[in-house]
Amino acid sequence: MSPASTGPDISLEDFTAEAESYLAQHYPRARRGAEQRFVWGEGSDEVRVFQEPDPDVEADALPAIRAWRAGLWEAGLGWITGPTEYGGRGLPSAYQRAFERVSRGFEVPGDGSLTVSLGMIAPTILAHGGEEQKRHYLPKMFSGELISCQLFSEPGAGSDLASLSCKAVRDDSGTWRLTGQKVWTSGAHLADIGEIICRTADEPRHRNLTAFLVDMHAEGVQVRPLRQMTGGASFNEVFLDDVPVPDSARLDEEGNGWKVALTTLANERGAMGASSFGGAGILSTERLAELVRHAGAADDPVVRRAFGELLVSLRAARYTQQVMSARAKAGDAPGPEVALNKIALSDNMARLGSFVAEVLGPKAVADTGEWGSYAWTSVILGAPGYRLGGGTDEVLKNTIAQRVLGLPRAR
Ligand SMILES: Cc1cc2nc3c(=O)[nH]c(=O)nc-3n(C[C@H](O)[C@H](O)[C@H](O)COP(=O)(O)OP(=O)(O)OC[C@H]3O[C@@H](n4cnc5c(N)ncnc54)[C@H](O)[C@@H]3O)c2cc1C
Repeated sequence: MSPASTGPDISLEDFTAEAESYLAQHYPRARRGAEQRFVWGEGSDEVRVFQEPDPDVEADALPAIRAWRAGLWEAGLGWITGPTEYGGRGLPSAYQRAFERVSRGFEVPGDGSLTVSLGMIAPTILAHGGEEQKRHYLPKMFSGELISCQLFSEPGAGSDLASLSCKAVRDDSGTWRLTGQKVWTSGAHLADIGEIICRTADEPRHRNLTAFLVDMHAEGVQVRPLRQMTGGASFNEVFLDDVPVPDSARLDEEGNGWKVALTTLANERGAMGASSFGGAGILSTERLAELVRHAGAADDPVVRRAFGELLVSLRAARYTQQVMSARAKAGDAPGPEVALNKIALSDNMARLGSFVAEVLGPKAVADTGEWGSYAWTSVILGAPGYRLGGGTDEVLKNTIAQRVLGLPRAR
């Protein structure tokens, strides 16, 4: 349980001051302007050529990320909106947003690499886990002791996830034995546990699947990195060979795996939506303006126009997200319309990629070590991937057509 004062009896103002004071004690203030970091991996003290996260570099960064989470947890800032019975602070989401705003003013490791763990798997455990599971996993996840990945996609099952073939069979002792292959598993090389969906029966589609939390360090789990065109290797193939999983690590009832998967996917689209309009991320307006100035393109009318168009798209995504947040606050569970967030993210990342390529020109491909230049290559080359991750744009457009607009099914 977080030790600091809990409950809604703390005002937003006092809470913000508390967060600011904690961060100021533990982290340096963020630099501004030309000293600001451009993208993950770029140093702020010296000009350093950006390197796409490679598995070893990411693994090196892990202790600082775990320490960041552990410190926040101890200070009562680790799970601001979480239920108090599982160690959360029980505060409204406005307090979480205030924390994020304040933390942008400091050089903190941040939670970027924990989006899957905290933004997708933890809410799934909260929704579908038993009491024991919630008490066991959630504090460990929010305090950085356990990092989780999402083991859904397979070589033969992506958009059509329900056709997956990874099997879980119960042995005589009641232990489940998992065998099969998963693919595109972001962060599997850093994860301690994975939410996995397996086929457990010969029942009709959607009733034959069960969800588990598998120990990624268990015997029989093999993680192999996949090299991307950005040069990085942030996702993996995962092979499971007769991996033992106790029944206590089953999420929800046997046969309810599809329902569990839908919860994770809805949270994934929500989490992606939160990044579709920028904030402190790669789409931050301030950071882009700095790039334009640094490239000497601030007076170029073509660049100014493209920048304006990009900002309008980011603003539209922000307002869409605000409408959905207001509905969620009023108690409406997220519906199929969250797919709009994900489409906004992939559209905005594609716009960003071409905008940056236009601003930088040949500098985007020449690895000279100059600040704010070649570093952006991974953003430009990584943009197309957003059209696939979290459900492809085509499939999500079908969802919107049928379930939001009420149009007939595509043939
Ligand atoms: C950056 C990134 C991170 C990812 N991280 C993870 C992760 O952590 N865990 C995980 O489990 N998976 C992850 N994935 C995998 C992702 O979920 C799949 O790529 C996605 O579900 C699509 O599956 P697929 O790649 O097999 O493509 P397919 O489903 O084979 O689709 C191929 C093409 O056909 C189109 N298509 C398919 N069905 C239809 C249809 N019914 N109507 C119209 N068009 C259709 C698709 O739009 C696509 O263009 C990640 C992917 C990316 C790019």
